[in-house]
Amino acid sequence: MVEPIQIAVVGSGYVGLVAAVCFAEIGHSVICVDNDEGKVAALQGGNTLIHENHLPALLERYRNTRVRFTTDLGEATRACQAIFVAVGTPQSDTGDADLSYVEAVASEIARSINGYKVIIEKSTVPVYTNEWIRRVIERNGVARDSFDVVSNPEFLREGTAVEDFLHPDRIVVGTDSERASELLDAIYSPLTGGEYYQQPTAIPGCCSRLNPPILLQTSTKSAEIIKHASNAFLALKISFINAVSNLCEAADANVEQVARGIGLDSRIGPKFLRPGIGYGGSCFPKDIAAFRSVAEQMGVDFSLLSEVEKININQKKRFLSKVRSALWTLRGKRLAVLGLAFKGDTDDIRESPAIDLVSMLLAEGCTVIAYDPAAMERAEVKLPRSSQMQYANGIEEAATDADALLILTDWQEFARLDLMQLHTLMRYPIVIDGRNLYDPKQMTENGFTYLSIGRPSAAPLHEAARLGV
Ligand code: NAD
Repeated sequence: MVEPIQIAVVGSGYVGLVAAVCFAEIGHSVICVDNDEGKVAALQGGNTLIHENHLPALLERYRNTRVRFTTDLGEATRACQAIFVAVGTPQSDTGDADLSYVEAVASEIARSINGYKVIIEKSTVPVYTNEWIRRVIERNGVARDSFDVVSNPEFLREGTAVEDFLHPDRIVVGTDSERASELLDAIYSPLTGGEYYQQPTAIPGCCSRLNPPILLQTSTKSAEIIKHASNAFLALKISFINAVSNLCEAADANVEQVARGIGLDSRIGPKFLRPGIGYGGSCFPKDIAAFRSVAEQMGVDFSLLSEVEKININQKKRFLSKVRSALWTLRGKRLAVLGLAFKGDTDDIRESPAIDLVSMLLAEGCTVIAYDPAAMERAEVKLPRSSQMQYANGIEEAATDADALLILTDWQEFARLDLMQLHTLMRYPIVIDGRNLYDPKQMTENGFTYLSIGRPSAAPLHEAARLGV
């Protein structure tokens, strides 16, 4: 085993908490800091607060042994040489990343520095942020040789965050300091050396002792751009296939066949070619906006990113039109909505296209009965209960007497609906699927009118003429 390293992780959200327990899992000793007292108390009590596979088990295993939680950043700074910053970098009104949380943390660290420290920026930030962190710390009177700032962007996906952290495609470390680089090498060595994967209790995934992840060392600025460029490219892929799906609808082609045909090209690959109601979540929308804004400030024309955003926004409007085309008028219609999270396997509703669509449907006068396996509690804050906005305890309850059922999130359980039962529960057997979870033929065979993305609409014979299919 490697020598355990004392690590501080600042921020205990999706990234900070996962990083904290995963650093413990690979043998280190972690102090996780958050300035939200309620969050810290909940974590101290063993409540993960977020829905992520493996997280409860890892928290249970390491809480109060290799991981402890505190609100005291000063104490954590003094106790640890490596300080990871994983606080939020939300979008500001201008589209830029709001870096005030990062700055606040940098200033607070500076006030407590008591020896050489490495401050590792894990939040997604625009290029030059590391340089600003360095300046802020120096302005607070810390000598330049007492610290280094490193960029170590995080690529985990919500829903598979623990697995992604422990089995990453790559670990990017941006630094110009040899001393900091050695510390980062040591922190990640149980993964890069393959040792972790030999343990019988290791979380399974795509890496192994013989196929460990690589650690890519770059300059700090390159590392910052790698993260923004990666997210922008993934969003671009989604918007691209959504634009292709619109063309497929116009030409009466099938986007699933087209996506497969494109994805089999090894230069393109099949991932992120799934058409739907657009990307959402806490990262893509804000990161694309921030990347575009950085380019603008540097005088670089990156209007391609504006197109990516435009297609994404339009995708929701097109889905609303689809609902209208199936139901004619919307006022007073009772709609079952399956899915509120921005994607399956998470309870995160930040920038969720499902939440936006439900808001649009409510504004049109529909009654919505929504069900999501994990995100309802969070959704209720955005979409409070009312006579028009109701929450169901399960799929059956949502579907009962519905004029149509809308699938808005790709949870696995929504791909396994009991179609016969659903047909008997609904007032009208109409399914409008924003995630293409079903085969249109299977739906018509079960008596449903079925509308999806980028594929010809399908309906039983008596409905087909009305829909023009
Ligand atoms: P989050 O909002 O879930 O968590 C951020 C945490 O930081 C909160 O708990 C907040 O209380 C805490 N915080 C804010 N200011 C603080 C301070 N001064 N001191 C201590 N704690 C403070 O955010 P997240 O989803 O974990 O994202 C964090 C960063 O990682 C963002 O930059 C994001 O873009 C990036 N990122 C997120 C993901 C993801 O899937 N969520 C993936 C990769 C990268």
